[in-house]
Amino acid sequence: MSRYTGRCACGAVRLRIDAQPLATRQCWCRQCQTIAAGSATNNAIFPADAVHIDGALAASAWTAASGNTLTFHFCPACGAQVYAQSSARPTMKTVRFGVIDQPHDLAPRMVIWTGDAPQWAVFDPALEQFAGQPPAPAPKD
Ligand SMILES: [Zn+2]
Ligand SMILES: [Zn+2]
Repeated sequence: MSRYTGRCACGAVRLRIDAQPLATRQCWCRQCQTIAAGSATNNAIFPADAVHIDGALAASAWTAASGNTLTFHFCPACGAQVYAQSSARPTMKTVRFGVIDQPHDLAPRMVIWTGDAPQWAVFDPALEQFAGQPPAPAPKD
């Protein structure tokens, strides 16, 4: 029994996730704004081996300001962003909320890259905020 299930917009890609997230974050970095129609992405970071994907994904890699390589994995048929992975954290996958089936219990616990957000952006004052990149979440043993 999976804790979470999910699918892309067209259904060609399906997910099963067998773990609780290590962290959840809302990200306002410029790259996220580009893929999320000008808004933030909302993401759950899972242990990589808990994320099971059926269906072929396309990928796009780029070099982050940190020097790490970030790879965005998405459905080649509908373009939905499924997950991202950093070369610095190969044991984690950052899954986009948008492909996780609702109802689910996930909500962002942290807002990051607020320094890159547009002026109209509103941040939940109850959430921890970082102007840039926060520390990586600790892996669960
Ligand atoms: Zn699709
Ligand atoms: Zn981002």
